[in-house]
Amino acid sequence: MERQGIALVLSAPSGTGKTTLVKMLREEFPRLCYSISCTTRAPRDGEVDGRDYHFLSRERFRQLKDEHYFAEWAEVHGNFYGTPLAPVREMLRQGKDVLFDIDVQGARQVKNSLPEAFFAFILPPSLEELRRRLHSRGLDSEETIRRRLANAHDELKEAAWYDALIVNDHLEDAYARLRAAYKAATLAPHCHAQMLRALLEDFA
Ligand code: 5GP
Repeated sequence: MERQGIALVLSAPSGTGKTTLVKMLREEFPRLCYSISCTTRAPRDGEVDGRDYHFLSRERFRQLKDEHYFAEWAEVHGNFYGTPLAPVREMLRQGKDVLFDIDVQGARQVKNSLPEAFFAFILPPSLEELRRRLHSRGLDSEETIRRRLANAHDELKEAAWYDALIVNDHLEDAYARLRAAYKAATLAPHCHAQMLRALLEDFA
């Protein structure tokens, strides 16, 4: 019997390897749909509008926010990010699993609106390693890296309320943990309510 879809929320400080882990998970599990966020930040090299993000002006973002278009939204590193509500509702209604790649402020809002969602936090093995990774990817200025590290500290303070903590020390090991967390999340009773109901009816 088909199970219900789950909402899988992933958060991580930038530079933790979340994008790579998300890519691996989506490749292995095509059933897992991705919630495409809106953002006011500029596209990076290789990013495609409508695939990685919906890239919007700040004015358009504000308009949509005022129209309650977003399930959650937050300002991260000086840019706005938000999750469109309607597509998420529709995917869950169709029984699909939905992956959210959102920051801790957004995750808190989802925790309130979708308490059955599963929340996983990806951690760097150390401050030193996170600093090294941010430098070596060569995307950010010294000032931006300092800001990202300060933000990482604030984000890590929220990690304790998540359902799973995944340290990205070695990519393959971290992926195995993330995969296990996802598989375990799909065993939650709310995903199998129909099956349980039918079984209980059998017994009755
Ligand atoms: P980036 O600009 O590096 O793609 O993402 C920066 C941060 O914004 C990441 O922590 C990412 O998870 C978060 N983010 C991306 N989309 C959303 C969203 O829709 N809502 C919230 N709250 N955060 C998001």
